[in-house]
Amino acid sequence: MKIAVIGGGPSGLVASINAKNNFNEVYLFDKNQDFGKKLLLTGNGKCNYWNEFQDISKYHSTNNDALKRIITTNNLRRTKVFLDSLGIIPNIKNGYYYPFSNQSASIKTILVEEAMNKGVIFKTNTAIKDIIKDKNFKVYYDNLCEEFDVVVIATGSKSYKKTGSDGYGYNIAKNFNINVNTVTPSLVQLVTDTGLEKKWAGIRALVKININEKEEEGEIQFTDYGISGICVFNISRNIAINLANKKKQKVKINFIPWFNGNNEEFLKYLNLLDIKLNKKNISNLCDGFLNYKLTNILASKSKIDNNKKWCELTNIEKMTFINNIHNLEVDVIDTKGFDNAQVCSGGISLDEINYETLETKKVSNLYFCGEVLDVDGDCGGYNLSFAFLSGLLVGRSIYDKSATSKSKY
Ligand SMILES: Cc1cc2nc3c(=O)[nH]c(=O)nc-3n(C[C@H](O)[C@H](O)[C@H](O)COP(=O)(O)OP(=O)(O)OC[C@H]3O[C@@H](n4cnc5c(N)ncnc54)[C@H](O)[C@@H]3O)c2cc1C
Repeated sequence: MKIAVIGGGPSGLVASINAKNNFNEVYLFDKNQDFGKKLLLTGNGKCNYWNEFQDISKYHSTNNDALKRIITTNNLRRTKVFLDSLGIIPNIKNGYYYPFSNQSASIKTILVEEAMNKGVIFKTNTAIKDIIKDKNFKVYYDNLCEEFDVVVIATGSKSYKKTGSDGYGYNIAKNFNINVNTVTPSLVQLVTDTGLEKKWAGIRALVKININEKEEEGEIQFTDYGISGICVFNISRNIAINLANKKKQKVKINFIPWFNGNNEEFLKYLNLLDIKLNKKNISNLCDGFLNYKLTNILASKSKIDNNKKWCELTNIEKMTFINNIHNLEVDVIDTKGFDNAQVCSGGISLDEINYETLETKKVSNLYFCGEVLDVDGDCGGYNLSFAFLSGLLVGRSIYDKSATSKSKY
């Protein structure tokens, strides 16, 4: 059997390693000079490759039923066993796994060397231009046409185009009449329209944010275009989908996630604090829990003079200020787009895929793995986990197929 794996990211590398046996030839193609260009950027160069808390709620797809059949406890276990077998020692922080070297380059090197040792044939600097199925697959590149028995599409999504993933896999799927669900950016910064952007740029705060009943807690980063940070990334998926459907989006920011009470109870808290601290002005009153720049921004948004003493404010002024601290409503008008998104949601429909092997139902010997599929995860290592898991399923299934066809022969 002659196998072409298109795309040398984490999913394509793992598929190649696991597909190779003595009865087949595995070719790994990538348009870049080297494999794993996006992998090198992950986790700020430290590669958050796995998470201790592996729960299906961390993964998303249009077809949740198929998702549950692919991301099973057994498949997660097999993937983890495979990663451990490569000698990757984890450095675990709050359940997030990083290689102990703290460098994504080590994960990339381990995978590339393993593929090389197994005898995978490397074809870097080679962009695949077209794939046609006749009796076999005709794969076109560099003015050449080469025939393969099996093709694996591991070309990624269309996020961070500069790393090589430009949505090519979606076009190939369409050529084979395979359905592609709408692709939108995910794990991406949000563009807001509040008039506060210039003032809040550079501020960070620990908050709870909330939209369409999805709630996230963590550090938010305010920028001159809007908001960023892991908690923002984790709500960006739903926002991008709703914006694409022309639905207006409002994020609510709670700057006092440590306070378990309503606005009236927080009013009592601030009144008492004011007495205890001996009649401070508004800026100073919140110093114990809020960045003073934020206090001033929220005071001015509430149309309050921040030099006034707390006790000099009317009840309405106090409640407006408290509401902005507890529940600041921010209009989101856009995302920072595919070029800034860590992943995409949508992609090759799981309806088209055999969930045990990830082979397409319509075209035999055509497989998809990694982010090109309609699966995306939250921040925390879930996207790489899926790239590895799906690469493993594809690779092992091809391995079994080529070993069986050899023994039949
Ligand atoms: C900045 C950033 C940080 C991230 N951090 C994390 C993190 O810490 N943890 C986590 O879990 N996930 C993270 N991700 C997401 C993760 O990197 C991806 O989900 C993962 O790389 C997807 O793997 P893949 O193999 O499916 O695709 P990719 O890694 O995108 O690889 C696809 C490969 O296919 C090649 N290709 C495409 N078209 C062709 C063609 N026509 N011919 C030949 N080759 C082609 C491309 O050159 C590319 O090398 C991050 C992403 C970004 C952008």
